[in-house]
Amino acid sequence: MTEQAEQVTQTAQNSGKSQTSLEIRHLVKRYANADKPVLDDISFDVPHGKVFVIVGPSGSGKSTLLRTIAGLEPIQGGTIALNGEIIETGKPGTESAGRSKRGSELRTRVGMVFQSYDLFPNKTVLGNITLAPTLVQKRDKAEVEKEAIALLERVGLADRKDAWPHELSGGQRQRVAICRALILHPEVLLFDEVTAALDPEMVREVLDVMLELADSGQTMLIVTHEMQFARAIADQVIMLEDGGIVEQSDDAEAFFTNPKTERAKRFLHTFE
Ligand code: ADP
Ligand code: MG
Repeated sequence: MTEQAEQVTQTAQNSGKSQTSLEIRHLVKRYANADKPVLDDISFDVPHGKVFVIVGPSGSGKSTLLRTIAGLEPIQGGTIALNGEIIETGKPGTESAGRSKRGSELRTRVGMVFQSYDLFPNKTVLGNITLAPTLVQKRDKAEVEKEAIALLERVGLADRKDAWPHELSGGQRQRVAICRALILHPEVLLFDEVTAALDPEMVREVLDVMLELADSGQTMLIVTHEMQFARAIADQVIMLEDGGIVEQSDDAEAFFTNPKTERAKRFLHTFE
């Protein structure tokens, strides 16, 4: 081996980690009894510390894609890898399998925040955030509570730690849901239209938390219809339609200012 080649190999070994946080290859997803796949041959990479945005019309498969990555839906083809390691491999015939055992590693390593705030109504804010780390991960309760309070401070809700979900506004509930995902230290955090069900005056407070997370280097995969926000936060972007990728760009700004496909142009035009 030449000296230079040796150096390259050593650098790769020393870094220890893949540059890519999430790697999706040829992913195929079918629902039971459907005549065609809802996601067909989807491939993309989400690099470490970057924000990857998915846009596309309603019914294009965005939520389904996030749910497969979160390990909530089995896949029928392709692979999902985290940090260079394949976690999930698609298997035909698993259409009706529901939440599979095979997805359990994804469920623990990938966090997800949903459109509807699904906090446990019978737990306080603090109880909601500390439940999974204490019960599932068996972490020390005092340590988990300390971290939960630090997270609540970060999203501006430290004073609401003992409140019940019904006492909170929609925007506050979504910020608690974000804390609940963050405390599990997800390698990738997925957001599925988290502001879509909010009153307009509460959208900003949630988007600001997401911008701060992006600045802090959290790897994120975001589905949103807020195009201004998408443009401000995205490093990379794909547009989905009908379960396929219409346009893919490593340069989100270029996509939003000058999309290459007519379809993306028309889609973005509807938000102007
Ligand atoms: P988007 O989030 O982009 O609006 P979805 O992923 O929710 O799209 O849906 C994509 C397609 O899959 C739609 O045609 C939808 O009707 C269908 N679909 C979604 N969930 C299911 C399900 N559980 N069973 C069968 N079909 C579904
Ligand atoms: Mg959706």
